[in-house]
Amino acid sequence: MSSDVKILLSEKEMPEKWYNIMADMPNLPKPPLNPATKEPVGPEDLSAIFPMELIKQEVSQERWIEIPDEVREIYKLWRPSPLYRARRLEKALDTPAKIYYKYEGASPPGSHKLNTALPQAYYNKQEGITKLTTETGAGQWGMALSQACNFFNMECKVFMVKVSYQQKPYRRSVMQIFGSSVFPSPSTETESGRKLLAADPDSPGSLGIAISEAVEIAAQRDDTNYALGSVLNHVLIHQSVIGLEAKEQMAKAGDYPDIVIACCGGGSNFGGMAFPFIHDKIVNGAKTRFIAVEPSACPTLTRGVLGYDYGDVAGLTPLLYMYTLGAEFMPPGIHSGGLRYHGDSPLVSQLLKDGIIEATSLGQTAIFEGAILFARNEGIVPAPESSHAIQCAINEALAAREAGEAKTILFNLSGHGLLDLPSYDAFMAGKLEDYPLPEGILNKALGNLPKI
Ligand SMILES: *Cc1c(COP(=O)(O)O)cnc(C)c1O
Repeated sequence: MSSDVKILLSEKEMPEKWYNIMADMPNLPKPPLNPATKEPVGPEDLSAIFPMELIKQEVSQERWIEIPDEVREIYKLWRPSPLYRARRLEKALDTPAKIYYKYEGASPPGSHKLNTALPQAYYNKQEGITKLTTETGAGQWGMALSQACNFFNMECKVFMVKVSYQQKPYRRSVMQIFGSSVFPSPSTETESGRKLLAADPDSPGSLGIAISEAVEIAAQRDDTNYALGSVLNHVLIHQSVIGLEAKEQMAKAGDYPDIVIACCGGGSNFGGMAFPFIHDKIVNGAKTRFIAVEPSACPTLTRGVLGYDYGDVAGLTPLLYMYTLGAEFMPPGIHSGGLRYHGDSPLVSQLLKDGIIEATSLGQTAIFEGAILFARNEGIVPAPESSHAIQCAINEALAAREAGEAKTILFNLSGHGLLDLPSYDAFMAGKLEDYPLPEGILNKALGNLPKI
């Protein structure tokens, strides 16, 4: 067994292929439906906003998908990313558990999102597209796609949820440094935005609204496509590079996880980390537990329902079969903007339904306590989103102490929090509140699900 704190791979050891869990799942999710006809979508329905290669990946059941050389070259700017053994945190918790974390915050935009932004921009460019539109919540996805478009000489138009546009101005600056145009959403740029503003001029916006705006523009223009930073199958395929590297690194450390943990907004960093290990559970009977951690203010997997729902508020996207709180659900303005989405990846949803993974939720005061304990021991200020995984890992390490079990825990540190300092300030000033969702609001949101 290695005593290393930092377990690294060389460039040569970076994966050459992504892993596609659809090749191994006992049950595939039900297919997406066309929002107008309610029939399963065909490639032609999606080609107005996505390139053919991504549409192919979306339905592919090939286990391995080649990473293009052009994408691997740029991955090398920060990949393979480091795996750390959190020895100081283990000591602070006085736990017999071993805690490992994979650090995705060392990427240029500071989160895992560039792992998929690069291939998405690349495939669009290959198919003659010159502009991408997208939405962003806290701004991490907008930053990642802006960088990717910049690397491939494409234009990028970002609709940023208005409350984040106001609370997190620095991420907007970064997007602009990379040449993107950024609009607070709801905006006057689109029909969907104008309609919402007429009804509610002070709307704080939501990811569901911003998606409607970005999709509307992409659907209208031949030179423009839309890019989504989470939820869809092709996104989770690209993110598998996280778990594939982590598996090699755990092997180097002479270890294998008993518990794999990641935070879950749309499911992409969870899927990216967990799926290559879930392969071992499905195919080889490994006993690993997988925990997706979400905010108690936006509890999609733990309190939502599994059914068909729109990905956006205007109902422009295909209906996805997923756990959802309802597309009209307006999450409270908690400080983990990246986890405020009403739905979840259909792949993650199906694995939860089939009992292969677990889900849990945490309140924001708890996760900031975990974030500060982690920062003081490991030296990294984590993103509030990632801190859900940290606090869950801490809880599991404390449970291992109670039980006297030397568990091996692996979690994904999806990003750093150096652009989230106003949230830390609010926490340290005692101004953060928990918003456990009242049953009434939940039932109202769920009552409006489309009838299929
Ligand atoms: C966007 C984001 C998330 C949530 O998105 P997933 O698709 O669920 O991974 C989590 N952590 C960070 C740092 C993010 O930027």
